[in-house]
Amino acid sequence: MLAPLTPEIAVMAAVLGGCIGSFLNVVAWRLPRQESVVRPPSHCPRCGTTLSWSDNIPVLSWLLLRARCRHCDSPISARYPAVELLCSGLFVAAAAAASTVAAPASNLPGAPAPLAVLGGWLLISLLLPMVLIDLDQLWLPEPLCRWGVVLGLVVSSIAGFSQAEATGRSLLLWHLLAASAGLLGFEATSAVAQKLLGKPALGLGDAKLAALLGAWLGLTGLGLSVVLSVFAGALFGLLGLFSGRLKRGQPFPFGPFLAAGGLTVWCLGNGFWLQRFSQWLGWSAL
Ligand SMILES: [Zn+2]
Repeated sequence: MLAPLTPEIAVMAAVLGGCIGSFLNVVAWRLPRQESVVRPPSHCPRCGTTLSWSDNIPVLSWLLLRARCRHCDSPISARYPAVELLCSGLFVAAAAAASTVAAPASNLPGAPAPLAVLGGWLLISLLLPMVLIDLDQLWLPEPLCRWGVVLGLVVSSIAGFSQAEATGRSLLLWHLLAASAGLLGFEATSAVAQKLLGKPALGLGDAKLAALLGAWLGLTGLGLSVVLSVFAGALFGLLGLFSGRLKRGQPFPFGPFLAAGGLTVWCLGNGFWLQRFSQWLGWSAL
């Protein structure tokens, strides 16, 4: 099922990722403001001038315009090209994962390579705007979470049922179970933490994001993503406290850590992380 990642596919993935990243910037800006993501077309938020296609090329336009609007000269945030670059890189990584490492195969065993690539791109397109909105507003939008769960179950079903009916049924069940475990596990943890600390410790959005990851990654993948994100989040919190950038008890969004954990599990595979964890825990020495 594996087709090696050719330079042509890599370039195509990079260009497509940049364009999708440009659109996801718009989604992350408009969704919290309850604006349509398609209309009106991209415009400068300061002067309202509609952007011509040549001012809308991912990364390049920002560089050519020297980070300023052509019409009103107001600065354009470096976040726009950064997101486009990130999305571009992630699209290449997802294509490489599906064609060389076969990593999504550990979450969708036996899935045909094109489905693994498209699935990865879809997952990235769901997670990126969620991360951006969580960073901006400490909030994960409900519709994205809900659609993310549904799409994850659909992709898992296609991966399974395209092989055999029994495979489809067990894969769907495994991912359905993971979605429920993610939702209930996080809600229970949040309730316990609230009792112990006397204030909310986890956003409810995190539970929905965990459900989304479960639907895409299955139970093992979800577990690995949660462990990775808790480590990364704790490290970030400690570094923040020591450097004085975070105050004690100051909330910071956990969604980006969960999303990053989920994507690294998708791209590198369950086996990679299980092996690493057992090495770190010293099990391989036994
Ligand atoms: Zn302008």
